[in-house]
Amino acid sequence: MPLMDFISAFVDLRPVASGAVGHCPFHDDQHPSFGVNKEGNYWQCFSGCGSGSIIDFWMKWKGIEFPQAVAELAEILGVVK
Ligand SMILES: [Zn+2]
Repeated sequence: MPLMDFISAFVDLRPVASGAVGHCPFHDDQHPSFGVNKEGNYWQCFSGCGSGSIIDFWMKWKGIEFPQAVAELAEILGVVK
């Protein structure tokens, strides 16, 4: 599953040339500072919340550590890592 499809299930995204933008779910965002890069398959908050892969997103979203995020995503996405 592409990163953008996954994140759009949790964040309201608007399509742009590079992928999509929306309000960052990790801070009180008055502007759409949150971007998803389709080609690079990564997300980024321009206000400094961070950036990264689907695993980084899930860690922040759930407030969990890396191994748990990987395990949960494997279950959600139905893949074995
Ligand atoms: Zn942010």
